[in-house]
Amino acid sequence: MVESVIQLKCDCNQYPWGRKGSESAAARLCAKTPGTDFKIEEDKPYSEMQVHVVHVHRASTRLHTVLDLQDVLDKHAEELIGKNVLQKFGHSKLPYLPKVLSIAKALPLQLHPNKEMAAELHRKDPDQFTDPNHKPEIALALTDFESFCGFKPLEDIEALMQLEPLQQFLPDTKKPKFDDMTLKHVVKTILSASDETIADVQAALLKQPKEKFGKDTYIPDLIPRLQAQYDKTDPGTIVALITMNYLTLKAGDSIYIPADGIHAYLSGDIIECMARSNNVLNTGFCPRADRNNVELFCKCLTFTPHSAEEAILNSTSFDRSKNGKTKLYGPPMSEFDMLATILSSGEKETISALGGPSIMINVNGEGKMKAGGKSYDVKEGYVFFIGKDTETEFEADSGLQIYRAYVE
Ligand SMILES: [Zn+2]
Repeated sequence: MVESVIQLKCDCNQYPWGRKGSESAAARLCAKTPGTDFKIEEDKPYSEMQVHVVHVHRASTRLHTVLDLQDVLDKHAEELIGKNVLQKFGHSKLPYLPKVLSIAKALPLQLHPNKEMAAELHRKDPDQFTDPNHKPEIALALTDFESFCGFKPLEDIEALMQLEPLQQFLPDTKKPKFDDMTLKHVVKTILSASDETIADVQAALLKQPKEKFGKDTYIPDLIPRLQAQYDKTDPGTIVALITMNYLTLKAGDSIYIPADGIHAYLSGDIIECMARSNNVLNTGFCPRADRNNVELFCKCLTFTPHSAEEAILNSTSFDRSKNGKTKLYGPPMSEFDMLATILSSGEKETISALGGPSIMINVNGEGKMKAGGKSYDVKEGYVFFIGKDTETEFEADSGLQIYRAYVE
């Protein structure tokens, strides 16, 4: 019989948008994961802690065996994943992927194509679009977190588009109503504009009196910041500031990005969880050579969410937690839900068995977990896979902050 709890090892990516050295939570957590030889270098950016390899420690033989989690799941699919989840997705891969992101500057302005489009793109260009799956995602703030997510309400965009430097992006023939098709035209025209036009528009916007931006006074403040991160010629700056919601979240707040949803994360440490896919279309906050075709990007665009409130994913208390210390973040998708268990020193929590596999990451504090008849140390940076039907009991010695993605 396979053990239902497996401790996992992590890796840290070094994309240039990551926070530097030990300022990066991704790097700090990764360095504390047992079995890693990862060392933080203070001058390097660390962007993402990714879970990938199983590290099995057999106390009896003092042998360390490194196995791929997927090999273990393939071999014990029914016990660890369960029939229901296997049938639901038709394979023995976990349908989700949780990560820790540490963001110092804007990630590429992007969307992840929906299932239908992903399948089509994968068929036509399997090198760039490596799977036929969609990739809706959630971002849960661990610190203050700034992001651009979805579009502003149409009337707000319409008002901003009256600014003189922006009028050139409006359709030639004015329609009676500024609708989603008008918005699509605006986005497409901005993304297709020349470097010179984009630079001129940004300079002209900076000359506008602040009150012309209505309630969005952050726009002139953010232009120089984004220009310093990328370039005065990056169209992402105009699309993000004029058409998208700018959200400033606090620790514990969360947003949901549906398939085809436009988004760009700007700063902060977050837990990100997504449906398992690599498909992405980038269009700004990256060099021109890394940008996907504007036509294709705009073809995929969805207009959900269409306000800041609509982008927020609210949590509820999890009804299968004994002491009420666990919150549920349930995005409207079938691949995963997320639990957050926050304990102060000395506090306990029991979570009843879940009907499918989960991955938990502890980002803060130390304590113990009892599961599958065994006791495990839980420290900062510890990551565990937990098989289906496993009750888990937590006790915090010095606080615990556990995030757990699961599917049933
Ligand atoms: Zn994304």
